[in-house]
Amino acid sequence: MPNTHAIENWGLWIGGRNHNSKSGKATQVVNPYTGRVIADVAVASAADVDAAIGCALKTFHETTKHTPSHKVSDVLYKTSRLIDELSEDFARTISLEAGKPIRESRAEVSRAVQVFRLAAEEANRLNGELVPIDAVAGSGSRVGFVVREPLGVIGAITPFNFPLNLVVHKVAPALAAKNTVVLKPAEKTPISSLKLARVLHECGLPKGAFNVIVGSGREVGEMLVQDERVRMITFTGSVPVGKEIKEKSGLKKVTLELGANSPNIVCADADIDSAAKALTVASFAYAGQVCISAQRILVHEDVMKKFLKAFLGLVKSLKIGDPLKEDTDMGPMISEGDSKRAAEWVDEAIRQGAKVLVGGTGNKNVYKPTVLTNVKPGMKVVCQEVFAPIVSIIPFKTREDAVALANDSTFGLQAGVFTKDINTAFYFAGSLEAGGVWINDSSVYRQQNAPYGGVKMSGLGREGVKYTMEEMSELKFIGIKGPF
Ligand code: NAD
Repeated sequence: MPNTHAIENWGLWIGGRNHNSKSGKATQVVNPYTGRVIADVAVASAADVDAAIGCALKTFHETTKHTPSHKVSDVLYKTSRLIDELSEDFARTISLEAGKPIRESRAEVSRAVQVFRLAAEEANRLNGELVPIDAVAGSGSRVGFVVREPLGVIGAITPFNFPLNLVVHKVAPALAAKNTVVLKPAEKTPISSLKLARVLHECGLPKGAFNVIVGSGREVGEMLVQDERVRMITFTGSVPVGKEIKEKSGLKKVTLELGANSPNIVCADADIDSAAKALTVASFAYAGQVCISAQRILVHEDVMKKFLKAFLGLVKSLKIGDPLKEDTDMGPMISEGDSKRAAEWVDEAIRQGAKVLVGGTGNKNVYKPTVLTNVKPGMKVVCQEVFAPIVSIIPFKTREDAVALANDSTFGLQAGVFTKDINTAFYFAGSLEAGGVWINDSSVYRQQNAPYGGVKMSGLGREGVKYTMEEMSELKFIGIKGPF
């Protein structure tokens, strides 16, 4: 389709201002729904990456590590308020660059507003503790305490699916703990980050405390990962890239928020209508391109019929179309390649015996909401991360069977359990191998101030403002010997 609309031009953000790339290279950001180019964005050269890290290091030593907490907090509060004021513009940007339905984009922006507010609060209470020195005989007249200090320059690498809030989940706590940041956003969705940089600048963030370098993971990402001035890499993305980053990052601290194939369990005593509603959102929000999407729904055989009636009815009513339209429930996938891959996995599952209850077809970037049954543990749609609008329904008889099925996965990010029985709830909460378990809500719900992260292949470390700040600071012990 020819471009008859204005194309925005974006530079890199280094040292509190826009920069052209030193190499002169640019990348095009494409609206996944229309296929139109919406922006030209400068691509960082090695010299730009070097400048961004240098700038972040200088700002750390000269400014952020000495800034009083209340001043840091003020900037973060202001940022929260300004994002709120600009929320419609941010939401449109997310929908245009990521193809996310506008109502979901608005929810993403409002979460980013909350994360900055929580970070502003936490900035004033990153406290240490007193060590009970006299617990050890012979320690004499001594006192000892622990303080938290910032790490320095943090390298943040983020995926395409939440171009604002996953960036904010790294940047707001990093700044609250007095670090500086060099961010490499996903190359398909860099505009939200560049807009965030302007907002932080306008709210009084010291120049150089937040820098955005755009480019491919292989080039720009790897430079950030391997630079010795960077003290920590905070990464959200796929398992293969996460593994590579861990191998290449040397002695840096690394946190990895990776993929999953989240299980959700519907017990015989569950409120079926509310489970069906929650799981429709959990399976098809942002076309299933959410790390904690419901990918496997385990349903007690006694309520299978009732659940399928409610669930399939809701899935069939989903409105698919233009992400900018108010009534759109599901838009495109991020690229045609991703939609084709989804189709291939479903076709392969069908050849291996799976049955399609709804969907199973696609056109260009759009793959229809798809519900499968008769699946087997070895099928890709079950055991790998599907990251598409595809969900499998799996029956179970006993709660032990359900746990065995749910835990039969290399991943463990979040899980959902629907039951009215407190004993069943605690049984599942204790038995599921996951970083988080929701009772009577789905795996897709993320609470901004709760610890969030994975076990097994789903990652290392935790996010969720206060917990991210703990990861992004280090303990220093200070001891004093008397006599007092
Ligand atoms: P991806 O791993 O392809 O890319 C993520 C980021 O890593 C991008 O910025 C990319 O440019 C960069 N990158 C790629 N190769 C790199 C390398 N060699 N060195 C350094 N950086 C490199 O992921 P994606 O396709 O953008 O996003 C989808 C994935 O993200 C899914 O697996 C999903 O589960 C995961 N994800 C996880 C969470 C979570 O919180 N656990 C949240 C959202 C998405």
